[in-house]
Amino acid sequence: MKYETIVGLEVHAELSTDSKIYCDCKNAFGMEVNTQVCPICMGMPGTLPTLNKKVVEYAVKMGHALGCTINTVSKQDRKNYFYPDLPKAYQISQSDIPLCENGSLTILVDGVEKTIGVTRIHIEEDAGKLLHDDSFAGSLVDLNRCGVPLIEIVSEPDMRSSADAKAYLETIREILMYLGISDCKMQEGSIRCDINVSVRKEGDTQFGTRVEMKNVNSFSGAVRAIEYEAQRQIEVLEAGGTISQETRRWDDAQGKNFLLRSKEDAHDYRYFPEPDLRTIVISPEEVARLKDELPELPNKKLARYVTELGLSQKDAALIVENLDKSMLFDETVALGLCQPKNLSNWILGDISKYMNETSRSILDTPLTPKRLGSLIQSIEQGKISNASGKIVFDAILHEDKDPETVIQEKRMAQVSDADALTQIAQQVLQANEKSVTDYKNGKTNALGFLVGQCMKLSKGQANPAMMKEIITALLQQ
Ligand SMILES: [Zn+2]
Repeated sequence: MKYETIVGLEVHAELSTDSKIYCDCKNAFGMEVNTQVCPICMGMPGTLPTLNKKVVEYAVKMGHALGCTINTVSKQDRKNYFYPDLPKAYQISQSDIPLCENGSLTILVDGVEKTIGVTRIHIEEDAGKLLHDDSFAGSLVDLNRCGVPLIEIVSEPDMRSSADAKAYLETIREILMYLGISDCKMQEGSIRCDINVSVRKEGDTQFGTRVEMKNVNSFSGAVRAIEYEAQRQIEVLEAGGTISQETRRWDDAQGKNFLLRSKEDAHDYRYFPEPDLRTIVISPEEVARLKDELPELPNKKLARYVTELGLSQKDAALIVENLDKSMLFDETVALGLCQPKNLSNWILGDISKYMNETSRSILDTPLTPKRLGSLIQSIEQGKISNASGKIVFDAILHEDKDPETVIQEKRMAQVSDADALTQIAQQVLQANEKSVTDYKNGKTNALGFLVGQCMKLSKGQANPAMMKEIITALLQQ
């Protein structure tokens, strides 16, 4: 019996605002524990929260990017639960009226487009973090993360495999990066997801019972968690059992999940409207203004690279997925100095290599779009060879020089003057009579040797293509 896997995702993304969602504390990662806190985010009685406007703007931008309806009136609610990292014993979130609803996201899986429904996007506050230390028997709590703003993006159960889920997560991350609303640092927990998985026999129209896995914090972990859970459910069903609705904890190190608790329903959280905050009202003009501020989004950019600039789908995707690379590409293309295809080869070759080796953003180096464009232009025009191009590239990065200066200083300019090249060719032919005879007797590889000798005589500065043409012409006279 074949089974189909059904996946829905709840993605939590930390927003990169300067301050927290309801107080003035700094929204910063990696600070000394319990230093970025105040009575408000520590949940002291008698304090009052004030909503950070930027959080609403960021969430609305994400809503626009996912084609959602933006609710100009929405409200905030208390989600009540106890946990040691949540001193207030409630999280301020949005329950029945979220900021954004009814959107969708198009993903590309193995070259096939799929549309995944986005149920809603709401804003909420993060909780603190429990720390465990071998030198101490109990748990320690760091409240710096309390009140860090989050958006939760809830999908419809439209994904049918771990590959769908991976593509969905990667696309969400790209959009967050392009919008500049989250730093998307997975290792710092900036994006985490809860995963709902169920299985059903192929052909069934009803969904099976779903199981939720909480707080998966890497995309590869999500893939493993989905595959593991689908397999576990299939085995239970094949053995004649039934799936119970529950929450399981994914342990990535062990590659297994464990029962955490039987699944809670929304009413278990006793949601009620947050009495200390006003209704969120955004004017239609503000909603429209935020839409106008959206940059070109990754899927549009990808399509433009392929159809207008002639890149392959694969190369275009590799540039689009990295914000720095796509900015460098766009700005250099705009100068019109070189062919987009050659530019893409440089970005995916030497520039990517440099970025990987140094972990630096290419935008913080002396390689400006203008310098890159004229370097590639010099190669395209035959002024310098490809090999010299790589030397110029290094000199731009390490010596902060313009390509023209490097070419001049290192006397790299290729000789493309036909008279000069003919002189070189004549000298070489006179000195290598045996090779000339060989060539005339049909040994065509003698040509390569003769061109090589010319290049040597010119100290590598002859234009190789022209050199070959001239030698061939002289040999045939
Ligand atoms: Zn605070």
